[in-house]
Amino acid sequence: KNYVIKRFPKESDMEVKTNKIELKLPESCSNNDILVKNLYISCDPYIRNLINDDNNMPAAHRTLVGSPLTGYAVAKVLDSKHTNYKKGDLVWGITRWEEYSLLSSSNSLFKIHHVDVPLSYYTGILGMPGMTAYAGFYEVGSPKKGDRVFISAASGAVGQLVGQFAKLAGCYVVGTASTNQKVHLLKNELGFDQAFNYKEEKDLDLALKRYFPEGIDIYFENVGGKLLDVVLLNMRLHGRIIACGMISQYNLEQSDGVHNLSVIVSKRIRMQGFVVSDFYHLYPKYLEMILPFIKAGKISYVEDIAQGLEAAPGALIGLFTGRNVGKQVIAVARE
Ligand code: NDP
Repeated sequence: KNYVIKRFPKESDMEVKTNKIELKLPESCSNNDILVKNLYISCDPYIRNLINDDNNMPAAHRTLVGSPLTGYAVAKVLDSKHTNYKKGDLVWGITRWEEYSLLSSSNSLFKIHHVDVPLSYYTGILGMPGMTAYAGFYEVGSPKKGDRVFISAASGAVGQLVGQFAKLAGCYVVGTASTNQKVHLLKNELGFDQAFNYKEEKDLDLALKRYFPEGIDIYFENVGGKLLDVVLLNMRLHGRIIACGMISQYNLEQSDGVHNLSVIVSKRIRMQGFVVSDFYHLYPKYLEMILPFIKAGKISYVEDIAQGLEAAPGALIGLFTGRNVGKQVIAVARE
C-alpha cells in the first residue's frame, strides 16, 4: 500500500534484504523480459517523491512500501528475451535498487555504445542528470552570450554541468552551495566565475546584489523556497527561471511560502518547469556534443561514489543534507 510520508527520511526507513534468485530468466517470463546485473545505481533527489502517494508520478516510477526502490542505474544484460538487447549488452535506464533486476519492456533503457569513459558517468553526465542540465539550460533557458547566470545546488549532479555549459556559452556564472569545500570546487575546478556558501550569508539578498549588481538573467532553480523568493527580487527584466527542482521542499509537510512572485509581471520574467524525460529524443544529439568535450577535458565531472547497497540508504539521505560532493553514485558490482 502506498502511503504518504512528509518528513526527513531516516536510514532506518530502509533495509537491505537478501533473496536468492536464479541468474537466468525463469521459463514463465514473457517476451521482452530482461535480466540485468546492476553495476552503478544513481542516487537522485526525485526518489524521495516516489515514496509519497504522489499522483503526479507515473505509476511505473512509484515505489510500494516493502519493495525495492526504483531508480536509474547502469547495468549489464545477463539474459534477454527482448529483441533489442542481448547478453553482455551494457545499458542505462530505470531498474531497481538491487543487485539483479528482472525488467520488462516497460522499463526505459538506453544501450551504452561508448565505453572509453567511466561507466559510472551513465548515471550522471552521460545519463539522466546530464540530459537534465542540457535540456534545462539550452532548451528551456534560451541562453545568450553575456547572460548572468545563477545556479543553486551548483556542485551537484545537474548544477555542476549547467555551470560549465553556461561558461561555454559565454555567460557570467555564479553558483551557491552549502560548504566551503563545494565553493572551492566550483571556483577552482569547475570554472565558475564566482561561488558562495549560502549557509554563511546572513542576508542572501545582499549576497546576490554583491555578485549580480545588475541582476540575474537566468536562474537555474534546483532548490526552491526561501532562496527562490530572494532570487525573484534580483532578477533582471525579461529574465528566465528554469524550474528544474525544488529539493528544499521535498521533505516538508507544507511548502515554504513564496512571497515575491508578483515581480514576474513587472519584470516580464519567464519561469518554466520541465521534466527531463520529455527531452530524451535529444539524447543522441547531446552525446554528440558532450563526448568530445569530456575526451578533450573541456568538461569535468565530479562524482561521489559510495560502495555497496548497504551504503545506499545513507547516500540517499545525504542528498537532503548536502553530504554529497558531486554526483552521488552507488557502486554495486564490477562488470
Ligand atoms: P544534487 O547532486 O545537487 O544533490 C542535492 C543537493 O541539493 C545537495 O547536495 C544539497 O547541496 C542541495 N540541498 C539539499 N537539501 C537542500 C535544502 N533544504 N536547501 C538547499 N539546498 C539543498 O542533486 P541533482 O543535481 O541530482 O538534482 C538537483 C535538482 O534537480 C533537484 O531539485 C532535483 O529534484 C532536480 N532534478 C530535476 C529533474 C527534472 O526532470 N526536472 C531531473 C533531475 C533532477 P548544497 O550543498 O548546495 O546545499
